[in-house]
Amino acid sequence: MKIVRKIESYRKLYTSLHGPIGLVPTLGGIHEGHLSLVDLAKSECATTVSWLFLNPKQFAPNEDLAIYPAEEKEDIALLKARGVDVLFIPKTEDIYPVDFDTVVLLDKITKPLEGSRRPGHFEGVTTIVSKMFNIIKPDKAYFGEKDAQQLRVIQKMVKDLNFPIEIISCPTIRDDDGVALSSRNKYLSVTERREATFLYRGLYKAKVCYEQGERNSDVFRNIVIQELKKSSLISIDYVSLSDHRTLSEISGDINSPALLSLAVHIGGTHLIDNVVLQ
Ligand code: AMP
Repeated sequence: MKIVRKIESYRKLYTSLHGPIGLVPTLGGIHEGHLSLVDLAKSECATTVSWLFLNPKQFAPNEDLAIYPAEEKEDIALLKARGVDVLFIPKTEDIYPVDFDTVVLLDKITKPLEGSRRPGHFEGVTTIVSKMFNIIKPDKAYFGEKDAQQLRVIQKMVKDLNFPIEIISCPTIRDDDGVALSSRNKYLSVTERREATFLYRGLYKAKVCYEQGERNSDVFRNIVIQELKKSSLISIDYVSLSDHRTLSEISGDINSPALLSLAVHIGGTHLIDNVVLQ
């Protein structure tokens, strides 16, 4: 695995890379969820490039940037062992020089869900992803359904701005007890980690209910809320049932694919999860 830290070095290397090039971007804190994206990229692309950058612009001032659980050495070892061909680890000052002055901003799709709770988050994401696409020039880029709104936002940006890149959506990888893998799970105490099982339990119950024929949107939101309320450690940020593509909230019956998503705090830790009802 080649490690590249400078944009100019990647540009030089790029001319010798075999396509298609598959890109797997992460903030670090590599786990099996990230590595499943690498596996998929490797199965579809001649060259797999990973991007490791703890992007400060997608964290609000009150968020966990300073303590984010990413260890460069461990992350490099995990990505190498999984067969990544090129690992790009840019420096913050190269990505955001002092005169950096551009924001890529999507409107409607960034307003609900995480966008309503994390001011500036999605413009941080779309700005860095645009830069990353221009630097790495991948043919395909792999993103997890775990961050469902992020995935929709990026798909929309790629369509609106005509990036010549195929966005591949990858299924959520979970622990045996259903908890979605996340770098932030490392913040949880043993008790908090146990209570985190209520998230997927609620989503799973709702999915079963959908499969049995229920279509009323309130029923699904209520199933999840009731499950989350069983834990005194969980505080609910939102439980949402939205159109899978536009993310506009559904009232009444579901008659097209829908995203059932939630965000909670357990102790100080922000966790999100979702399932698609279709
Ligand atoms: P992050 O480093 O948290 O920004 O995640 C990097 C990529 O990995 C994003 O596309 C995430 O959606 C994806 N990802 C994170 N957790 C999981 C998971 N449990 N299963 C599948 N993909 C994931």
